[in-house]
Amino acid sequence: MLEGSGPATLWAPRGTALGVYVHVPFCAKRCGYCSFNTAVYLEAALPRYLAALGREIDLAGAAPWSAAAPVSTVFFGGGTPSLLTPAQLGAVLERLRARFSVAPDAEITVECNPESVSRDRLSGYRDTGVNRISLGVQSLDDQVLASLDRAHSAAEARAAFDAGRRAGFANVSADLIYGLPGLDAATWDRTVRSLLDWEPDHLSAYALTLDEGSRWHAAGRTGLPAEETVAEQYRTLARLAAEADFEHYEISNYARPGRRSAHNQIYWRAEEYLALGPGACGFLGDTRYGNVKATERYCATLEAGALPVATQERLTARQHLAERLILGLRLGDGIPEAWLAERMALEPGRLPALLEAWRERGLLARARGRARLTEAGFLLSDALFVELL
Ligand code: SF4
Repeated sequence: MLEGSGPATLWAPRGTALGVYVHVPFCAKRCGYCSFNTAVYLEAALPRYLAALGREIDLAGAAPWSAAAPVSTVFFGGGTPSLLTPAQLGAVLERLRARFSVAPDAEITVECNPESVSRDRLSGYRDTGVNRISLGVQSLDDQVLASLDRAHSAAEARAAFDAGRRAGFANVSADLIYGLPGLDAATWDRTVRSLLDWEPDHLSAYALTLDEGSRWHAAGRTGLPAEETVAEQYRTLARLAAEADFEHYEISNYARPGRRSAHNQIYWRAEEYLALGPGACGFLGDTRYGNVKATERYCATLEAGALPVATQERLTARQHLAERLILGLRLGDGIPEAWLAERMALEPGRLPALLEAWRERGLLARARGRARLTEAGFLLSDALFVELL
């Protein structure tokens, strides 16, 4: 990816629908496992960030294609977007609506940390047009939550979920993490069952990874479970979610019928999305790009009147095909066989034999013109994906 001065205007999208990702970097405190682009929350820093974000929306919205760009999803991620008041969040949405064609039925999601929401705040979000919340529950065991440095208890997570329902949200997602130091099978089983008892509409669950940029990575966290333990926790989750009638529609995501995340499906289908906020990543036309990460520099760049794009990469046809395959195979619905045929034509000797071996091992299913990974294939997906690059 090239790093340098950003473009004067953003690249025109090819497709007919666009997602918008808005990164709110602030967190009250940093969790030990977190490698996301976050900044310490200082009340005084927020107005400067919001002013910069407003400028970024105006600059992005000055592109000749923007007024007609049909925005189908908006996702406020972080960081902790729920640190924004309804008035602050509503002002961002209004600015987006003034510059882009945000569909009246667009899915508008806010990631919420349990300790930062109340029924009033969530009702206020609903009034601005937010129609989906994604709650960072992570665990329902107070000891595990404390070890993760989370700022909430299991009871507070439950209270936040109930506040969301009382505020009228019919579409509530919850996040969990497994594969954690000290997380045993019984605690994980209890956590998943308890969460499913709340009857959320959507569930995301990721195995812990010690990514660069996290405190745990820097300190060399010990006590991580064996691979088989992590796989067992994955299988427990998949089984319990299926028993509760959730569709396992993406490797790490489960939904009640009709409640799949429209925004995240844009990523997995390698479709287009606009990036706003420090460190946010976007994909427009055939260009992937990323914003300046440091919040201070992000604000200063916009104050100087420039788009805060720090990296950009134009994908070749082969790279784009690899992305469509790898991202699409994360989905339970899989991909059209024609895409695999296109990829196999580039390596006619090796790939057809390899894919046949996957099928024989029960990792890949091919039917009715589509190819998809099985549950067993999902577990081995990383090893499979490198073959498709
Ligand atoms: S995990 Fe979430 S709440 Fe914790 S530091 Fe990272 S972004 Fe902030």
